[in-house]
Formats: sequence, C-alpha cells, structure tokens
Amino acid sequence: MDKWHSLAAALDERRRASLYRQRHITSSPSSPEMVISGQPCLCFCSNDYLGLANHPAVVSAFKQAADHYGVGSGGAHLINGHSQAHHALEEELAEFTGRQRVLLFSTGYMANLGLISTLCGRGDYLYQDRLNHASLLDAGLLSGAKQQRYAHLNEQKLAEKCVVNQPKMIVTDGVFSMDGDIAPLLELSRIAEQHDAWLMVDDAHGLGVLGDHGGGTLEHFGLDAQQVPILMGTLGKGFGTFGAFVAGDERLIETLIQQARSYIYTTAMPAAIAEATRTSLSIMQCESWRREKLQQLIREFKAGAAQLGLPLMPSDTPIQPLLIGESAKATLISQQLLAQGILVTAIRPPTVPEGSARLRITLSANHTEQQVTRLLDCLDGLL
Ligand SMILES: *Cc1c(COP(=O)(O)O)cnc(C)c1O
Repeated sequence: MDKWHSLAAALDERRRASLYRQRHITSSPSSPEMVISGQPCLCFCSNDYLGLANHPAVVSAFKQAADHYGVGSGGAHLINGHSQAHHALEEELAEFTGRQRVLLFSTGYMANLGLISTLCGRGDYLYQDRLNHASLLDAGLLSGAKQQRYAHLNEQKLAEKCVVNQPKMIVTDGVFSMDGDIAPLLELSRIAEQHDAWLMVDDAHGLGVLGDHGGGTLEHFGLDAQQVPILMGTLGKGFGTFGAFVAGDERLIETLIQQARSYIYTTAMPAAIAEATRTSLSIMQCESWRREKLQQLIREFKAGAAQLGLPLMPSDTPIQPLLIGESAKATLISQQLLAQGILVTAIRPPTVPEGSARLRITLSANHTEQQVTRLLDCLDGLL
C-alpha cells in the first residue's frame, strides 16, 4: 500500500473504533470555568488540583521574572540556561522533599526517560506496575533493561518476580494517573530493601495534594528518603506551572547531571517558570485549606455518585474516574456532557487497558459544591 494511503487507513480505523483523539481549543486560563471553542463550560478534567495555574501571585511572579530574565532561557542547564531562579527552586524543592538535592527537568516525560535510562541498562531487571504512566514504560524501553510489569498494586506478584530475578529498580506511580488509586509504598519499599534495589516513585499526582503539608504519597504513608530513595515530581499538575524534578541524594543528582541525556541535550525551562513555581510551592505549603477543600469536594462527589449508583472506581484522590467500558459509549457520554456545558474527557485504550474506557473526572480546590452538584445532575441524566 502507498505510504500515504496507509496513514489514512490507520486514521479511518481509529475513527471506526471510537479511538480518534481530538483537541479542544481553549481561550481562557485553566480553571473550573473555561471557554472551549468559544463556549463557556465547566471543566472537570484539569490536573491543576490546587487551583494554582492562574493564581494571581503565581502569575505576578512569572511576569516580574520575565521582565528580568526575558522569556527564553537561551540554552541548556549545562551551557548558559541555569539561572539563579532555577537554582533557588532546586534548593527549595530539596527542602520541601527532605532530600539532599533536586534536579529540574524540562518535563516529567524527560525526567523519567533520563533517570531510568541512566540507572538501568542492558542485563538489568526493571519492575514496573502494569498501570504506570506511559513515560515510565517508555523510559524502561529506552534503557534496554529487561522490563517486567507486575499486576496493578500487587506487591505479592512483584515479590514473586523479585525472587526469580534480582531487581535493579522498582518503579511506580504514587497516585495512578488514570485510576486515582495509591501504590502500596510501604510494601514496595520493604521489597526493594530486601533485594537491594532502587525504589523510584513518580508522584506527579500526589505532590501538593496528599499529606498534611502537601508532601504527597510519601508523606501520606510517612516514608522517608531512606525508604524511597528516588522521588520524581512534576510541576504541571498540583504546582500549576510546568516542568519536573528528581529529588535524591548528592550522588544520584550528580550522576544525572553527568549522564542523563534528556537533561543534558535540551533547553532549560524559562527562568520565569522557575520563579512562578517558587511562589506556587510556597502557597502549596502554607495554604492547607486547599487540600482540605479538595478532600471535602472528593467526599461530596463520591457520596453523591454512590447515591446515584454511578460506576465509581476505588479512589480517594481528586482523580475520580467513572468506568464505562466501551470506547464508543465513553466518547458519546463525553460529547453529551460537553453539549450541556461540562468538559470531561473520555480516556480510552491504549491509555487504559482494553474494555476499560472511562470518564476521567478530576476535582480542584477551586471548584464549588454547586459545581459538583451540577456535574452529578448531568451525569445522572446520562448514565
Ligand atoms: C503527567 C505525568 C508525567 C509527565 O509529566 P509532564 O511534565 O507532563 O511531561 C509523568 N508521570 C506521571 C505519572 C504523570 O501523570
């Protein structure tokens, strides 16, 4: 078949299977009330859990820093892109996570690629939860390690694999991005210690949200840097800005600076983003009412959904997916919600396993109870 025809055929096939991906065009900041394709709508799919993406103090820090540093960083961190703003943010994140050092990456995807491919290589065994984020799985492929996926949240299955082949590294999401449930970190840290393996937690969806001080899944379980030596976090979710970091001990961070290709061969994030993130970190730590409000909205949503008999999944985090099953059905409900002015995206395979298409509903500290009630009312009419 002609090479252009095969692209067109594959696109058609995706459409037929209700797996076609499409973008919505927004003309407003990320917030509960957004404007999508010129229409006002209520958004329940953002990862801006604490409502910091458009916080006036964060925006103002960004503007001031842009006045000083300009927009582009001009180069990679190892050339001329590493500003005082980046350095100060690294130090503050190290203190926040209780670790010796932090290294900023331009995105979470790149942090995971750089970290895992630096620590693992051919001949090493790398174990990952079956539902880990795509960037972690891709990182494992890139590393060339022997990658094995264990059943979701199943430390027993992991332990069995570790007995057969000595693990070099065990990797898990802290809060699972498409399910909202939490990894059994106490058990995983015990297994890692037993086998002298690295344990790495990607806490993209836990930081800022879980723990009394927003310390994420590790604070939730009371785990320290000894038990979880490698922590990765993203800045584009709870922090409301952009970018990512790896936190760990001096030797780990220096190794990444020397070797992680997705750190070395890419442009540093703009300094103004780093300054904005310093402000959002400080708000995140001080304003615990944001976490409390979020927990209250989660409870209200779950209670309301249970009363209506909606297909909730087992999650206590702001990620509250409704399991639909068929991709076509999930897509249809998402379209019907949008027609009523509510934006919730349908998540379909291969992002989630075959037959488990879902509506990924997320809550933010900026939502109101009335907005959650409106969502429940609309869902009741459609499901
Ligand atoms: C979003 C996400 C990433 C990627 O982070 P970006 O900064 O968006 O590239 C990595 N891991 C998990 C678990 C995520 O949810």
